[in-house]
Amino acid sequence: MRDVLAQFAGGRVVVGVTSTPFKCPPAPSETALLMHEFLRTRGLLDSSQVSLVMPFGAPIPPSPDASRAILAAFAERGIVWHPGRSVRSVDHARKVVVLSDGDELACDLFLGVPVHRAPAVVVESGMTVDGWIPVNPLTLETKFPGVYAVGDVTSVGTPKAGVFAERQAAVVAAQISARLRGETTSTTYDGRGICYVEFGRDMVAKVDVTFFSGQTPAGVLEGPSTDLVADKRAFESDRVSRWFKRSV
Ligand SMILES: Cc1cc2nc3c(=O)[nH]c(=O)nc-3n(C[C@H](O)[C@H](O)[C@H](O)COP(=O)(O)OP(=O)(O)OC[C@H]3O[C@@H](n4cnc5c(N)ncnc54)[C@H](O)[C@@H]3O)c2cc1C
Repeated sequence: MRDVLAQFAGGRVVVGVTSTPFKCPPAPSETALLMHEFLRTRGLLDSSQVSLVMPFGAPIPPSPDASRAILAAFAERGIVWHPGRSVRSVDHARKVVVLSDGDELACDLFLGVPVHRAPAVVVESGMTVDGWIPVNPLTLETKFPGVYAVGDVTSVGTPKAGVFAERQAAVVAAQISARLRGETTSTTYDGRGICYVEFGRDMVAKVDVTFFSGQTPAGVLEGPSTDLVADKRAFESDRVSRWFKRSV
């Protein structure tokens, strides 16, 4: 993609989701905003148009405030928003993407979110139902006692994002540790995650969202602001130092 962008001389850019569920629901909106920023810094905006095709009715459905902020940013920048539809196919010869309802969008550059599925080794293990691993939503234990699953391969009900996988992993570590000691633990999964959203123009927003089983998820928006850029960098350097024992 880096090489393609380096050679892109402007035109109609379509950012499009091909199916659900997909990784990191805010990512396509961020891609549209960052693409717009890229075209602006290259002086290509006058000859370009960015469109976003999303299967949801809002950019971040659990957070109406975040969705409103993103839609306002789209409107301000002239990014065309196509909600409630996905991309069905790409016709390279005619330079169009075909949407799920049959409509077509002219396209010089397609940035697509591919179909997301669990790795074959996971599906072949026999642990999945309809492609994903069902787990106890509090302990992340699968139907096999003592076997746990975390992250994108589960159907636990949180979005497929790293912040949720990370929090699930901590719960599973506590569950396994207690099990090995012959104890029980009160550490259970709370469905919470904090997501940073890049707006371009050195602006970042933060959405704190909790998905409790059986309840409507609620997301609280902070920003977008330039102050949150440092907050996001701190989040990143904290992970890099804890996980990889090095600094950014
Ligand atoms: C463009 C984009 C932006 C994103 N932005 C964010 C964000 O801002 N915040 C956020 O929280 N999340 C974000 N995500 C989502 C995040 O990357 C994933 O949700 C997260 O990586 C899931 O972690 P995981 O460990 O479940 O799966 P993965 O990270 O996919 O790890 C699975 C691993 O298993 C390996 N594997 C597969 N098959 C085999 C095999 N047979 N043998 C051995 N290894 C195998 C794979 O190579 C992979 O390394 C983003 C995703 C994308 C695509």
